[in-house]
Amino acid sequence: MTITRFAPSPTGYIHVGNLRTALMNYLIARKAGGSFILRIDDTDPERSKEEYVDAIKQDLEWLGLTWDRVERQSERLDRYAEAADRLREMGRFYEAFETPTELDLKRKKQLNMGRPPVYDRAALALTQAERDALRAQRGNGVWRFKLDQERITWVDGILGDISIDAASVSDPVLIRGDGQVLYTLASVVDDMEMGVSHVVRGSDHVTNTATQIQIIAALGGTPPDFAHHSLLTGPKGESLSKRLGTLSLRDLREAGVAPIALLSHMARLGSADPVELRHDISELIDGFDISRFGSAPTKFDEQDLYPMTAHHLQSLPYEAVAERVRGLGVPDGLAAQFWLVARDNITTLNDLEGWWKLFRDGADPVIDAEDAEFVAQALELLPEGPHDAQSWSEWTNAVKAATGRKGRALFMPLRKALTGQAHGPDMAQVLPLLQVIRAKA
Ligand code: GLU
Repeated sequence: MTITRFAPSPTGYIHVGNLRTALMNYLIARKAGGSFILRIDDTDPERSKEEYVDAIKQDLEWLGLTWDRVERQSERLDRYAEAADRLREMGRFYEAFETPTELDLKRKKQLNMGRPPVYDRAALALTQAERDALRAQRGNGVWRFKLDQERITWVDGILGDISIDAASVSDPVLIRGDGQVLYTLASVVDDMEMGVSHVVRGSDHVTNTATQIQIIAALGGTPPDFAHHSLLTGPKGESLSKRLGTLSLRDLREAGVAPIALLSHMARLGSADPVELRHDISELIDGFDISRFGSAPTKFDEQDLYPMTAHHLQSLPYEAVAERVRGLGVPDGLAAQFWLVARDNITTLNDLEGWWKLFRDGADPVIDAEDAEFVAQALELLPEGPHDAQSWSEWTNAVKAATGRKGRALFMPLRKALTGQAHGPDMAQVLPLLQVIRAKA
């Protein structure tokens, strides 16, 4: 059974980087007919907020990334305590009392001597009496997992053969001094107990994976298939870490990005396959293959999402957007026609409002001095509305006959007078929608 999970910490809004992780795990589960878990990594009570849990769910729902169940780490603390006890019993867990400043000093010394800054395991040498004394003095220590100092290897779904020397990695802290269980342990316990078969996450987790493989083995489990995707950079290869705050899924939704544009982009970005706009998330499932992704940093440009959004909107029938269009106050009799005219002239649905305002209130006319007389004469010939699909050609024929103007010299001044713009939708379609012709007043 293929089981995957998306495991955000609810400490902020999720962004395009998180989406990449979520989508890959989602697609693997759906393609295999398996199960996709939304796991809330909320072991940190200070930083985790319920508001972010809700926001994460809303963002995933907006995209149509449906989950089969939700798990919360805060409800599973007893499971982690039990695993910690087992590690203690088997001698793989030890308490260490160094302060952050002391650790920092040790690291600096090691670096000065040209050695990797790996925790020196000084705490392992403490006698029981020394430990008791330190605990009395400093309070509870942190609990570190004692790595077996051998090479840790796995075949990564994206990175291929990985081999990490455990001696080059510090024994990971799994429980903090205040008793808080850290993600490295909680995640392992969850993945084992929930039968997670595939874990896709960012390449910033590669070292975690090495230590987690040993923790899983110590607890008697089998590691899932791991794959680590590259991190996103900006369009010029610059780090996105500072900008990710502005690339939250809610910001993109506000900006009008269509979910399917974002999903189509993200399901292929950084892979050997071209980005292709799909109609529906289900169309992304079959062609998804994690092994097609590369390890190089992946350039992401949010601007790419807008042409894709525009393209998607052009394919939508009125029914798909009826609610949104009516929400603008477009009268029922005009709404479908309004959409057909507007959809070819918008980038996002947010642009609809401007078009509706223009049709409802009319535009400030633009009339060049040399056309003033012509426009005035033409407007005399314009019958009262409502206009229909024939009105524009009937009117312009009459104007042509009366003034002798034709072609661009005939049409352009009228377009500018009625819409205030030199470009835009077909005037035959615009005229029936225009509720007010300000140039006439
Ligand atoms: N909560 C972790 C994170 O957001 C999950 C990592 C994982 O997928 O194991 O980085």
